[in-house]
Amino acid sequence: MMKRWKAEALIAALLLPPFAAAALYATGHAIFTSKLWADLGAFGSNSDVLDKARNQPEVLTSVEDYLKLRVTPTRIETGRAKIAELKTVLADIEKQYGVPAETLVAIWGIESNFGKTMGDYNVPVSLATLSESGYRTDYFREELVAALEIVRDGHIEKSQMVGSWAGAMGQTQFMPSSYKAYAVDYDGDGKKDIWNSVPDSLASTANFLKQKGWQRGSDWGYEVKIPAGFDFAKAWKKDGVTLREWAKMGITRIDGKPFPQPNEAARFYLPSGGEGPVFLVLKNFDVIKRYNNADSYALAVAHLGDRMTGGSEFVAAWPADVKPLSRAERQELANLIVAQGFKLGKANGRMTQNMRLAIIRFQKKEGLLADGHPSQSLLQRLRSAGSVASEQKT
Ligand code: CA
Repeated sequence: MMKRWKAEALIAALLLPPFAAAALYATGHAIFTSKLWADLGAFGSNSDVLDKARNQPEVLTSVEDYLKLRVTPTRIETGRAKIAELKTVLADIEKQYGVPAETLVAIWGIESNFGKTMGDYNVPVSLATLSESGYRTDYFREELVAALEIVRDGHIEKSQMVGSWAGAMGQTQFMPSSYKAYAVDYDGDGKKDIWNSVPDSLASTANFLKQKGWQRGSDWGYEVKIPAGFDFAKAWKKDGVTLREWAKMGITRIDGKPFPQPNEAARFYLPSGGEGPVFLVLKNFDVIKRYNNADSYALAVAHLGDRMTGGSEFVAAWPADVKPLSRAERQELANLIVAQGFKLGKANGRMTQNMRLAIIRFQKKEGLLADGHPSQSLLQRLRSAGSVASEQKT
């Protein structure tokens, strides 16, 4: 009871207009606010949301498996059909925002299966529950206020404001604060409706990407081929140089085509080490990551987009040993690298340049492919190297 009262006072206080606002407005606003809260209360809170928040597992899927779940034949086919069906709208959105159809449709497909799975949690209720629970309270309180403002401004009925348990809303899964910053009313009905309007949803995504720095006319990146005897240490040291510089190191596109814009900066991305598919990724790859901050997510969006527009599967095969290291295992790997006498600065398990270079030196010493990639087999090798060293000491 106490908790409920506190949350009610909180919402009322947060929604109160500034002192300068007219008294008349304040009265109407207070009625609106109290009614809103009563409605919200009628929905109840959702303990399921708290279970989800507390039990978020560390994601330890290989990039190969991650892609398999997202870039499916059905999704590729549906995406192709959507691109054809929405051709005019998508061409106009690209003209306005510079983001091509396949990127938008791929995000739409991955985020909500083209609007089919937006999540069925009522967003204000989820956010109120999360905020009230003390789980990242400030963050969720701000998102809750933004959600209530969206309702207040008439873009969506509160009962229709559905999303994921964590408050990502509609066909393109915007958090309320992102919605407020980037959603647009493309179809001109006065509502920024990312729940029921596909054109609004796609244009909102395009606007988000444009504001985050999308490069019109550029690509996301390329699968590349590495020459025999390639010096990975040099590559990790030079990360972020232009495609021309990468080409000088002997790297080519796997399809043999030239890099169309050799002055673009690119970074090296080896999701499963030098034996699997290797990529040079461009600025737009990192812009996609602003939607969901994971390389695997950006690769899924990029690859799904390519596949929908006739692109082929990756050429290089994924190696068998691709289960990524957990946070604890990466920390252990860093400690073992230090125990081998390599200097890391901070051995916190993050894949810094120093960490990669130290791994490369160890790999060379052991006669392994020296790619700087932290794999399960590398960890195994370090563990046995460590135990041999301690036996020699005693
Ligand atoms: Ca609209």
